[in-house]
Amino acid sequence: MTLSRDVLIRWMQLFAQSIEANKDYLTDLDSAIGDADHGANMHRGMQAVLSKLPTVAESDIGSILKTVGMTLVSTVGGASGPLYGTFFIQMASGASNKMELTLEDYINALQAGINGIVMRGKAHLQDKTMLDALQPALDALKQAAESGASLQDALEQSAAAAAAGRDATTPLLARKGRASYLGDRSIGHQDPGATSSHLLLQSLVDAVKA
Ligand code: ADP
Ligand code: MG
Repeated sequence: MTLSRDVLIRWMQLFAQSIEANKDYLTDLDSAIGDADHGANMHRGMQAVLSKLPTVAESDIGSILKTVGMTLVSTVGGASGPLYGTFFIQMASGASNKMELTLEDYINALQAGINGIVMRGKAHLQDKTMLDALQPALDALKQAAESGASLQDALEQSAAAAAAGRDATTPLLARKGRASYLGDRSIGHQDPGATSSHLLLQSLVDAVKA
């Protein structure tokens, strides 16, 4: 089994829906340790992505992911726009001219996307950022692939690891982004970006199952 273009498009549609359903929740999380705009930022970005998807309906996966990334960069203010934008643009880099992604292709794309976030945001693990959901998700994905899991099982394990990583941000002291301005007062709150990153990976599971 592979990830087809249709699955990729469905992924973005389901992520947009999930962001819409969790918009107030993400904003509440960001109001505790940020400026209460993460839900609105992501919603604005994903609505713009939705309106762009028809233009890439016939395109290869690289073009789809690149369009998503450029749209997020140009429509989302705040830290998360450039970070998610870079994530998708870097994911696209190995997928140009591909009409489907194998599990191995997807692992390489996720690795490239995470590298892009780290290059741009300079976060380390446990800085209380989206990286704390994404990196464990990648590790779980690799482990699942090595043990011969199916694509769907590997994606499910990856999303579960992202959820655990998201939960594990709560006791952390923020060292990057606005939350870091709070110092010790950032402790005890779940990171909004790690929360939306889990929604992203869960949406892919849902897209594969649909
Ligand atoms: P802003 O902080 O500019 O208001 P958002 O509220 O949309 O932007 O996004 C905040 C999220 O961005 C944080 O919860 C965190 O996960 C993520 N983030 C912030 N800075 C970084 C960084 N340097 N590297 C990775 N992720 C970051
Ligand atoms: Mg914010």
